[in-house]
Amino acid sequence: MTDLNKRTRAVHAGTRRSQYGEVSEAIFLTQGFVYDSAEQAEARFLKSGPDEFIYARYGNPTVAMFEERIAALEGAEDAFATASGMAAVSGALMSLLRAGDHVVSARALFGSCLYVLEEVLTRYGVEVTFVDGTDLAQWEAAIRQDTTAVFFESISNPTLQVVDIAGVSALAHARGAQVVVDNVFATPVWSDAIAQGADVVIYSATKHIDGQGRALGGVILGTQEFIRKTVEPYMKHTGGSMSPFTAWVMLKGLETLDLRVRAQTANATAIAEALHKHEKLARVIYPGLVDHPQHALVQRQMGPGGTVLSVDLKDGKEAAFRFLNAIRIGVISNNLGDAKTIMTHPATTTHQRLPQDQKDALGITHGLVRISVGIEHQDDLVADIMAALDAA
Ligand SMILES: *Cc1c(COP(=O)(O)O)cnc(C)c1O
Repeated sequence: MTDLNKRTRAVHAGTRRSQYGEVSEAIFLTQGFVYDSAEQAEARFLKSGPDEFIYARYGNPTVAMFEERIAALEGAEDAFATASGMAAVSGALMSLLRAGDHVVSARALFGSCLYVLEEVLTRYGVEVTFVDGTDLAQWEAAIRQDTTAVFFESISNPTLQVVDIAGVSALAHARGAQVVVDNVFATPVWSDAIAQGADVVIYSATKHIDGQGRALGGVILGTQEFIRKTVEPYMKHTGGSMSPFTAWVMLKGLETLDLRVRAQTANATAIAEALHKHEKLARVIYPGLVDHPQHALVQRQMGPGGTVLSVDLKDGKEAAFRFLNAIRIGVISNNLGDAKTIMTHPATTTHQRLPQDQKDALGITHGLVRISVGIEHQDDLVADIMAALDAA
C-alpha cells in the first residue's frame, strides 16, 4: 500500500477478512485460540506465523489489523498496540533501556511522561538529563557518546513548542542514540516523523485516532526488529496490550482520521486568526500562525499548525474562568483531539501539581486556556469564542 496516499491507507491497510467477507472489520472478541491438534499447538508455541495467534496479550486479529493500518499510515515497518498512550510511552522506554543507560529528554512533557522519566527510569538506574527541547545547542551539549536514547514530544502541551525532529535526530544518530518521539499533537495526518529521522514514534490513540472520546489506547511504531524483538517481549509479558474491542474502535477511528484532523486544523487556523491581537489576550499560541516563534520549522516539519491552540487571557485566572464558563459549544474537559471542541485550564487541572517555578518556566500562566478544536462548524466556533471573550 506504500504507493497509495495516507488517506487511502487509513481506510484499507491491514484489513483481514474472515470467511464471511464482512465489510466492517470483525471484532475478534476472544482471549484465546484453539488448535487442530496437540502438534499444531506445539508448533505454534515454537514459532507462530503472521496469522497464527496464541493469546490476546500476545496478539489478536483485530489488534493486528489496527497495528498494520497505523504502521502503513505512519510509514513504519511495524507497530505494537497498547492499552493506553502511557502504556506505549512506558513500554517503549522500559523495553529499550537498562540500568546504567543515559537518556536526554525535553523538559516540556505531559505530566505522566515526566513521571516515567523522572521517577520510574531513575529508580531502575537510568540517568536522565533534561534540556529545553527547542534549543538544538542544549541537545548537542547533553547527548553523550554513551547516550542510549533521546525522548521528546514533537509539539509540547500546552504551550505548543515545536521540537526539530530532523535536527535532534541528526545529533542523536551521530552519537548512536535512538530517537523516541511522542507525536500526539502532530497527529499521523500531519507528521512524517519516521521519514524525518525518528526511530520510534508513539501515539496516544485516545486522542485523534479514536477522536470521539470512547476508549483509551496507544501504539509504538518502529522497525520490525525493534517492535518484535524489543517491545513485544516486554509488552506481552508485562500486560499492557490493547484489547480487541479497543482495537476495533481505533480501526474505525483511523478510517475518518484524515477527514477529522483536516477539518479540526482548518477550524483551529480560523480561530487563531480571528483571535490574533484580540485586546483581552496577551498571547495566541498556534504553530500555524506566522508569528509563532518556530513557524518556519512548523512549515518544514508538518505543514499546517495542527488541531490545538492556546490563548493567554491578560486578566489571569478569573478572566480565564469567566471565559470558560461563558463558552456554549466547547466542553470543559481535559482530553484533546476530539470531534468536540474541548477547553482546558492547564494551571488548575492537567498541570495543577507542577511547582510554580516549573509552571513559570514552561509558560503555564493563570490566564492560559488550551483549546482542542473539534469538527463543529467554523462560524459557530468563532462566534462562540468571541462572545465568551466579551463576557470574560
Ligand atoms: C494524552 C497523552 C499521553 C498519554 O496518553 P493516554 O492515552 O492518556 O495514556 C501521552 N503523551 C501525550 C503528549 C499526551 O497528550
